[in-house]
Amino acid sequence: MKTVDLVIIGGGPAGMAAALSAYEKGVAKILILERDKELGGILNQCIHNGFGLHTFKEELTGPEYADRYINMVWEKGIENLLNTMVVDVQGGSPCLITAMNKEQGMFQIKAKAVILAMGCRERARGAMNIPGFRPAGIYSAGTAQRYVNIEGRMPGKEIVVLGSGDIGLIMARRMTLQGAKVKLVAEIMPYSGGLRRNIVQCLDDYNIPLKLSHTVTKIHGKDRVEGVTVAKVDENLQAIPDTEEFVSCDTLLLSCGLIPENELSQGAGAQMDAVTQGPVVNERLETTVKGVFACGNVLHVHDLVDNVSKESESAGAFAADYILNGGSDWKEAVRPKIPEKTKCTLPEGRDASSQLICIGCPAGCLITAKKREDGDYDITGNTCQKGEAYARNELTSPVRTVTSMIRVHGGRRKVVSVKTAQEIPKEKINACMEEINGVYVSAPVKVGDVLIENVAGTGISVVATGNAMQTV
Ligand SMILES: Cc1cc2nc3c(=O)[nH]c(=O)nc-3n(C[C@H](O)[C@H](O)[C@H](O)COP(=O)(O)OP(=O)(O)OC[C@H]3O[C@@H](n4cnc5c(N)ncnc54)[C@H](O)[C@@H]3O)c2cc1C
Repeated sequence: MKTVDLVIIGGGPAGMAAALSAYEKGVAKILILERDKELGGILNQCIHNGFGLHTFKEELTGPEYADRYINMVWEKGIENLLNTMVVDVQGGSPCLITAMNKEQGMFQIKAKAVILAMGCRERARGAMNIPGFRPAGIYSAGTAQRYVNIEGRMPGKEIVVLGSGDIGLIMARRMTLQGAKVKLVAEIMPYSGGLRRNIVQCLDDYNIPLKLSHTVTKIHGKDRVEGVTVAKVDENLQAIPDTEEFVSCDTLLLSCGLIPENELSQGAGAQMDAVTQGPVVNERLETTVKGVFACGNVLHVHDLVDNVSKESESAGAFAADYILNGGSDWKEAVRPKIPEKTKCTLPEGRDASSQLICIGCPAGCLITAKKREDGDYDITGNTCQKGEAYARNELTSPVRTVTSMIRVHGGRRKVVSVKTAQEIPKEKINACMEEINGVYVSAPVKVGDVLIENVAGTGISVVATGNAMQTV
């Protein structure tokens, strides 16, 4: 039986940051076990930008953020086993991990400590009790995101999104950019659970209606979704009779919340926390099971990957101390600080020609711009310089970064994620997408490769944000 110092379950940003930190603290034998065919976790499918503002002080796409950590893991020679599913964890001295993959079948590993970093999963249709048959065309937003951004397939043509958290908003834009018609985003709460900047850049930019205090009360269609009934809800979140409206569509995307992947934590006998919905931990991120630590979305759902990386560095350092020095006694449960859930609305009756929501960072400042007689603007409400520049641009010549994917010949992946190297004029987005969709490139492709020069006559190039290795 293989014996190591530390096993990390999950090779997403949490697992990689924990591994790197344990390595820095002097742990020699570290093994990351990942069920997917590559490291990076959910970031590989999050091809939009908005990651890394704290960690790298720049705005990266998900695959670019993952790529930086993957390179560090390789540089340090930290061992990882891909396509390997962990099915059981037992704590103690040593801990015992049971896993399986195609080459080795079922096998066991002994480790002095384990870090759980399995991420989270989406709430499925079953959890929402929406009446109707079980037709094709109902997806969780994350599954649809994987189809589009990793498999290069479209789940449908006419879409309704239920749930306006960031994932729902981002997918509404993504489907639109790929040519689908997004009819509306329905949100049961009187506010969106996503960031204000995402309401602006994902919905307003593409004239996608956001219906707050609305939900889907019925799914129509037997073999394939043919439409949904959308109704207004009262303050108890109950559908109000006579407000129902039929909306024809072939696809319903559900974006109704995330919950930690709890099977292994519970199987190990870890006490669970009803508030975080993940395992109970102490101040050292150690669960109630001896030698088993937890971090990232498996501990509690994080909105920002930068916070995942920071927390996971701590978990790696605590696990290292446990391995090298025996750690310290389990004293009391300490609940991780969970930032209050976003509750966003855009100011009612906002005059978009003078009141702008800054999309420069998650703060989403409300900026007022008053035109002066000399033609320039008096700009107030911004909390940083970026806001001022954004407002001036937005009122004169709005620009956006476009993120998408390009098809690949002869690659282990059918598509590779890309972005415009700089922001392009907003009115050029459609032309840019047409060019991106018309291009095929040959593997290998690596992060930073220029795949289109001068896209849509903007003078700006389209660069790869992910890697596509050649098939062997
Ligand atoms: C759709 C979406 C959009 C987001 N957008 C942003 C954004 O714009 N900006 C931002 O900062 N953050 C964003 N986030 C949040 C951020 O990406 C996540 O918080 C972060 O990726 C979580 O990292 P993690 O390592 O805990 O989990 P994950 O990235 O989910 O990684 C967990 C890994 O564990 C593996 N695993 C699970 N179970 C097992 C098992 N039994 N055996 C082996 N391996 C296993 C999984 O395959 C996966 O690779 C977004 C998240 C989502 C879901």
